[in-house]
Amino acid sequence: MITRRLFTVSAAGLAAALAAGIAPVMAESKGLIGISMPTKSSTRWISDGESMVKEFTALGYETDLQYAEDDIPNQLAQIENMVTKGAKVLIIAAIDGTTLSDILKKAKEGGAKVFAYDRLISKTGDVDYYTTFDNFGVGVLQGTSLVDGLKERFPDVKPWNVELFGGSPDDTNAFYFYDGAMSVLQPLIDAGQIAVVSGQMGMDKVGTLRWDGAVAQARMDNLLSAFYTDKKVQGVLAPYDGLSRGIISSLKGVGYGTPDQPMPIVTGQDAELASVKGMIAGEQYSTVFKDTRELAKVTAKMVDTVLSGKDPEINDTKTYNNGVKVVPSYLLKPVSVGKGDIETVLVGSGYYTADQINN
Ligand code: BGC
Repeated sequence: MITRRLFTVSAAGLAAALAAGIAPVMAESKGLIGISMPTKSSTRWISDGESMVKEFTALGYETDLQYAEDDIPNQLAQIENMVTKGAKVLIIAAIDGTTLSDILKKAKEGGAKVFAYDRLISKTGDVDYYTTFDNFGVGVLQGTSLVDGLKERFPDVKPWNVELFGGSPDDTNAFYFYDGAMSVLQPLIDAGQIAVVSGQMGMDKVGTLRWDGAVAQARMDNLLSAFYTDKKVQGVLAPYDGLSRGIISSLKGVGYGTPDQPMPIVTGQDAELASVKGMIAGEQYSTVFKDTRELAKVTAKMVDTVLSGKDPEINDTKTYNNGVKVVPSYLLKPVSVGKGDIETVLVGSGYYTADQINN
């Protein structure tokens, strides 16, 4: 979808302006911004896309917003098309951060600037900036909330039986989330307070390709039937709400969620509406809110600064080594949300209305 700014002057307005000797200034578009998002299946990206179109339009740019539905060739073709149309800037949340080198080389040769959005673009020097949230920090919030929940819901259980889920192994964020969470959980595992009964640890064992909830549900089914016929699970580290809901379906399928068999503590990320409702229903324990409106705003501001020939503000120059360079980054702060924070954080910030949450 291409969004153009329309500057219309009514006939009467034009006549009045001319009579007063004022030549109406027809504002020119400041150029085309290509926005490539991975999928609409996770609702956050819809909000990211809408917010960016709004921000860039307000700054005087045209936008080309495309969703690739988690299909890598599709994303490449969409970006290629943006380059052909002469996009001055590409803003990309990659499906697989390692697949874009050729098209980005072409884009840079044509003079475009490249921004990695939320997800790092790897193995190429042709990326100028990265705007995202503190991804390790997201994992720390998830690990911390898991432990808080275990203490609260299962104060007398020792050790707590926990299973671990990771995000998509082709998205570097998944590794930061996992490492952040393990920085909290590993010491408790080492101290014998948490037992990973399946023994499945490390991103190579717990990753979930393309962040697919059905894949997580199937893995949880397998874990429950292989390791929990004579044990109960008290906690599940889940890095994204879509996975959390798959995991919860699996748990409900074998009877969790009753006074005799309480729902394990299940974490999440993105504050998706379905999960927020699940938190109110006592199924999901927590999520991590990342205000996509803020990320869009910061990104648009940086792009505008770069296009006016200045250096944008960044706040991290050491974390995101993409294999070729450390990409200068701007990191926003994620926020942990439990049931008791929904009203203040999600409704209070205007991210959702009370109606959306309660109906
Ligand atoms: C994003 C998360 C999101 C996940 C699945 C990650 O790259 O940072 O916010 O939950 O992708 O879409």
